[in-house]
Amino acid sequence: MSSSNRETGKPLKLLVKRPLRSPSFARKLLAELEIPKRFSPEDILYLTPNKRRARSAMFEILSLYNGSAFRTPECFTLQTYAESLVNMESRKGLVDELDRRFILLKLLRGSKSKWFKEEHLGLLSTLYSELCRHHPEGWEKISSLATQEIFDLDTEKRLQEAVGLLEIYEKHLKDEALLDHERVLSEAESLIKKDRHKLLITEGYFEPWESEKKFLRELVKNIPEILVIIPDDAIAAEAEVFYTAQGLLAREGYSDSAPPKSNWNRYRSREDEVVAIARKICSLSLKGVRPEEINVVFPNLGAYRSLVERVFRRYNLNPRISMKPKLDSFPSARVVLDILLTVENKFRRRDIVALLLSPCFTKIPSSVKIWLDELSKDEGVIAGESSWIQWFLKEPPHKLKKHPQGAQIISDIKRFISGFIKRLEVFKRAMTADAFSARILETLEWLGWNAPHEIKRGLKDVFLKLSRIAELAQERELSPRFIRESLDTLMRRELDSGDEEEKTDAIRVMPLVESRWLETRYLFVGGLVEGEFPPYPKRDILLPERLKKPLSIPSSEHAFTNAEFELKRLENMASEAFFLSAPALEADRPLLTSFLLVERDETPHLEDPNLYSIQEELLFNPRGKYEKKQGVIFEDADSLNMLEERFGKNYPFRVTLLETYRACPYRYYLSSVLGFQASQEPSEEPEARFLGTVVHRVLEKLMRLLPASSAMEEKFLELLTAELDNLNINPFVKLWIEDWVRSRMDWFISEEEVRIDKGWMLDPEWLEKDLTLYFEDKGYTLKGRVDRVDWRDSSARVIDYKTGKEKGFKGKLERGESLQLPLYCQMIRLSAKANVSSFALYDFNESRVEEIADPEAFIRKAMQVASECISDIRRGLFSVPEKKPEACYFCEYSEMCS
Ligand code: SF4
Repeated sequence: MSSSNRETGKPLKLLVKRPLRSPSFARKLLAELEIPKRFSPEDILYLTPNKRRARSAMFEILSLYNGSAFRTPECFTLQTYAESLVNMESRKGLVDELDRRFILLKLLRGSKSKWFKEEHLGLLSTLYSELCRHHPEGWEKISSLATQEIFDLDTEKRLQEAVGLLEIYEKHLKDEALLDHERVLSEAESLIKKDRHKLLITEGYFEPWESEKKFLRELVKNIPEILVIIPDDAIAAEAEVFYTAQGLLAREGYSDSAPPKSNWNRYRSREDEVVAIARKICSLSLKGVRPEEINVVFPNLGAYRSLVERVFRRYNLNPRISMKPKLDSFPSARVVLDILLTVENKFRRRDIVALLLSPCFTKIPSSVKIWLDELSKDEGVIAGESSWIQWFLKEPPHKLKKHPQGAQIISDIKRFISGFIKRLEVFKRAMTADAFSARILETLEWLGWNAPHEIKRGLKDVFLKLSRIAELAQERELSPRFIRESLDTLMRRELDSGDEEEKTDAIRVMPLVESRWLETRYLFVGGLVEGEFPPYPKRDILLPERLKKPLSIPSSEHAFTNAEFELKRLENMASEAFFLSAPALEADRPLLTSFLLVERDETPHLEDPNLYSIQEELLFNPRGKYEKKQGVIFEDADSLNMLEERFGKNYPFRVTLLETYRACPYRYYLSSVLGFQASQEPSEEPEARFLGTVVHRVLEKLMRLLPASSAMEEKFLELLTAELDNLNINPFVKLWIEDWVRSRMDWFISEEEVRIDKGWMLDPEWLEKDLTLYFEDKGYTLKGRVDRVDWRDSSARVIDYKTGKEKGFKGKLERGESLQLPLYCQMIRLSAKANVSSFALYDFNESRVEEIADPEAFIRKAMQVASECISDIRRGLFSVPEKKPEACYFCEYSEMCS
């Protein structure tokens, strides 16, 4: 590569396209352009969209000076650089996205809006960022465009009202001398002249929107020399056009490595997929590959996070997961919300008992832990502070009358409960944010709050943020409800562990967005299933898809095209090999492969006979009794300890797999303990598998749209056609599925009419909802996905759709063979504090609904069976049932046991 600008003596104004496979490209280019000779580090301003890259670039640039540099270059993302300019020069207070929501909340409360409520703050806030990014010049034209493009009056009015609210928001910011972070770039633009850097280097995937373009234009004008490095990739095409229009000379980079070897495999479940990745990493490290040479990407990292932590630990691998956990996912942080909810719910018995049984508190007397639940239930305490204080003043509870320590237990509970209620009563009153944080910390201290250091620090940050919000919203005293709702939102922030150091023995696991600037030898990209890569678009009630195009706001079509580019980019990123994978099933439901991969042939699966973990060794060579025909029963202490650890209280037992265990423990052992893959596809016919998946998907989308029953058939068929078109399947199978669904349409619509007549409401939150719940009293965690829950006030009706044959449902429930629905009922009841009045099976095959109106006995039975199964799994009992189970007829492991 020659540097013609240098040869002619002109200032450097160069745009270089960096090939995807070109390790240390930037470093080599900077050395070649003699940057260290011509500029001191402090002359250089380096900008990139990726925070991590900004950090590593600083060391990379410094390393060119061979230890002779005394100052550092300034390396930023565009946004942080703009913020640093504003912070230096402007007196305006910066408002981030969370602040924006709270200011909007205040404005919303004052506006008596017809359309918007607090739950729409997220939508309003997103609308604001979209408009700022794509229409920074002003939004006047939005309303008239809406009138032209939207043919439904409600959406049009809703959008107009939203824009009106956002204009009030902007005015509020102006009056209060505040600056929203979406407007930081425009503010910083006028401050660029103060920048004294001599060389601007930008590197990475800039996809500049209008304010960024204006800002970059000013930077390019102001800084004498410019070097732009963009990836040689279609996603960067817009940036290339932009920079060449600024007079930069474009030049191709060079690639010095061959394309990587590619592999594509599907695995039975997400767990099997992660196990396969972990095993492959182990085999690479046996060949001398170092952990930092391997990267793992999951587009939907949220679905894999805990799985990766668990499985990698089993293989002695140390994952460094980029996505930090959210504060509200920790029970020791959630207790703060539980305390406030207990007060808000008027001291309900079940709230108080749940709170006081929490393992997060160490100073609760054992008499309270042991007796409070039972005694208060017997005494009929339902809710209210006075009933808690009063019940011990009456006769001592009859259960304790003859108890040798009865008097002591009563006195302990009395003393503790009266102190506890008094402390909680304080939170009924409005108070300042500072008073609130002091009181809640005092209460937690009194209860012996046992939380890790980072949770304590995270919560203190949240309390500080609450004070700032109160200040921004100009609320001196905050109502209890406002405090609880604000904390609920604030606690959804990521928890900063403070551990930003790169560990050399760690394998980086990241979401897609972070993979854009990677240099790696081996790359694993997992979870490539439809709906997750590319993600399904969310329904937007303010900016429907048909409005996004005329407003030049990226639509789902844009997201799909980007995903295609992303895949190509990933494929070229590793220098040695890359591995694509996807799971085929989730619970009992097939997962479809991302449509970007359906036509790709799977790489032949090569058996790796090595055992990479102690667990694998113990499982494959059990030291206890092992009879092929009898199944496996573990007896030795090591194996039992290992099972106890693996299937401990945090292991999420899939409800459907517990059904498998109930039918045949040996089958569970082969599939879920050993993780053997089925030698063939699951035995159902492919048509049936597609049918189940398609019907579930279409019903989910349909129910989210909530169409009137008159429009339901048309909408159903429209969605079905779209879904089938996406599937790239045999046209005869398509026709068959269409006919099958059409013939059941009348029945389904009439069932929906009955639902509406009976007052059952749909809630989009409760469609295809993942459930995970730790049963503290039982010491295990259950997991599953419920198809749908209908609501009537706080009563729930839990629904499962079935498209296959389903005989003798009630009998299976009675015998504890069908666990799904009753266990989901119990999980929903406890987690959503709902009254589950019934559960129902929508049997599409037979066009009928089997409704269980009094589910109590079945729930009890299912809980008992689940407890027995889990206890037996932990005790290593995986025998073949004496009587041949029905499951044998479609069991993929039959060759291994008969
Ligand atoms: S073939 Fe039958 S007995 Fe053997 S594992 Fe499968 S279900 Fe169990």
